[in-house]
Amino acid sequence: MPGTNYRPGTKVGLTTTIPVEVILAAGLVPVDLNNLFIASESAYRRVAQAEEAGFPRTVCAWIKGIYATLLEHPEITVVIAVTQGDCSNTHALMELLQAQGRDLVSFEFPFSRNRRLLAQQIEQLMARFGVDGPQVRQIQDRLAPLRQDLLALDELTWQEGRVSGRENFQFLIASSDFNSDVNAFAEQLTAFLDQARQRPRRTALVRLGLIGIPPIFSDLFEYLQGLGAEVVFNEVPRQFSMPGAGEDLVGQYLAYTYPYDVFARIKDIAEAIRIRHLDGLIHYTQNFCFRQTQDLLLRQRLAVPILTIEGDRPSALDHRTRMRLEAFVDVLRR
Ligand code: SF4
Repeated sequence: MPGTNYRPGTKVGLTTTIPVEVILAAGLVPVDLNNLFIASESAYRRVAQAEEAGFPRTVCAWIKGIYATLLEHPEITVVIAVTQGDCSNTHALMELLQAQGRDLVSFEFPFSRNRRLLAQQIEQLMARFGVDGPQVRQIQDRLAPLRQDLLALDELTWQEGRVSGRENFQFLIASSDFNSDVNAFAEQLTAFLDQARQRPRRTALVRLGLIGIPPIFSDLFEYLQGLGAEVVFNEVPRQFSMPGAGEDLVGQYLAYTYPYDVFARIKDIAEAIRIRHLDGLIHYTQNFCFRQTQDLLLRQRLAVPILTIEGDRPSALDHRTRMRLEAFVDVLRR
């Protein structure tokens, strides 16, 4: 059944992962704006474009990128902005988009990880898009085998080395909106898994976890591979795939670690270190992002070597970061 207020097929922009089942149940097309921005060949130019429009230098490149990407995609008429549990910059972004006449819907992940409050938020979202519980449940059931396949892909990465860190990252990160086409994504994933299972097992010299928000660098995985290291744990993209899918939708989004406090993330990462036998972690941080402060607790609480790197604009790794990665992998190898 189509949404109450929107034509079927209307594109709905997402500033981060939200209960996408609701959007799909309404017959609408989710578009993860971060993925749309970073996949564009014009990603670098878009950041500059936002600065020319008046964005301060001291605002993170993802926010500027989303803003400029939306300017080039007027067909995305509705935007869901997560106003609690993601980024304080989203508030200002919402105001700018509203001034341009975009239809804005806000969603909050309660910081307290309270079941009742999250259930209320999801119900509000359902009411806004004109869908009911059974319709959403139907989509959840449709996505369940797909989420299982994503888990299988992750296992092929860390257990057997048949899937590279880059491939793992790309499939998992795309699960926030299933590349805006669930059926095509499912087909692509099935074909990929069939092919990956035929590959020989591989063992990297150094096993790494990549934690923190998705990096803005274009060649991080390839550079690490060249050093003999493989990323076998992509923390946040894995969370986007909902590995803790529960019995109901609320349970699934309560188990999702990213939007709440850092402690559930620490527990999740610590478990990955143990189960996946990680030699070390790379903590990616974004220039001008408040999440940089979390580095302190991550370093205090996690018991493997951590290298913190920082990126600014969409680009290849800079010389200094390359040198630091090389030295870090070298130490872990020894
Ligand atoms: S990187 Fe940080 S500041 Fe930038 S959008 Fe993400 S959470 Fe916000």
